[in-house]
Amino acid sequence: MACHVCGLLVQARPGHHPHCPRCGSALHFRKPNSLSRTWALLLTAMMMYVPAMALPVMQTSAFGSTQGDTIMSGVIYFLKGGDWPLALVIFVASVMVPILKMMALIYLLISVQRHSRLRHRQRTVLYRITELMGRWSMVDVFVIAIMAALVQMGNLAQITPGLGAVAFASVVILTMLSALSFDPRLIWDHQEQLQHHE
Ligand SMILES: [Zn+2]
Repeated sequence: MACHVCGLLVQARPGHHPHCPRCGSALHFRKPNSLSRTWALLLTAMMMYVPAMALPVMQTSAFGSTQGDTIMSGVIYFLKGGDWPLALVIFVASVMVPILKMMALIYLLISVQRHSRLRHRQRTVLYRITELMGRWSMVDVFVIAIMAALVQMGNLAQITPGLGAVAFASVVILTMLSALSFDPRLIWDHQEQLQHHE
């Protein structure tokens, strides 16, 4: 079996809890409770997506009045100001990417649970893309930081992060953990069983 961390291929003995001789991490044929863990983290991420979109990600205080901005109202703000490339970046990174990641994980989970024999290679590629996007998810958080900095430069205003930012960060972290809990080897399991029977 292969080490999750460093990829070293280790010869396994059954009924034994081996550790990787190179990096010392625990080895498993399949990640334990992969499907339930992935589902649990994914469902929590989906629930947190609602306050992430509905609650203000930042509070702008200027001249005694306080205004809350959600991600979408920020996108509309830049769109109205004619800054459509920035509006597009925020929309894609903060609204579309989390939805696409969650949809990809739902598809992978359901196809594994239904023992799908279709498109193994494409599904593995989809998993790799989802996992790869996870590493860049913090881009979304940087976008909010840039947005805050831009507004801060524009006015004599004070910017404070809102509850929506906390919810949004939790969506990013939860989808990353969910993708990490999923074991892509499960995609190929039914295929291998099938070949053994033939
Ligand atoms: Zn290792």
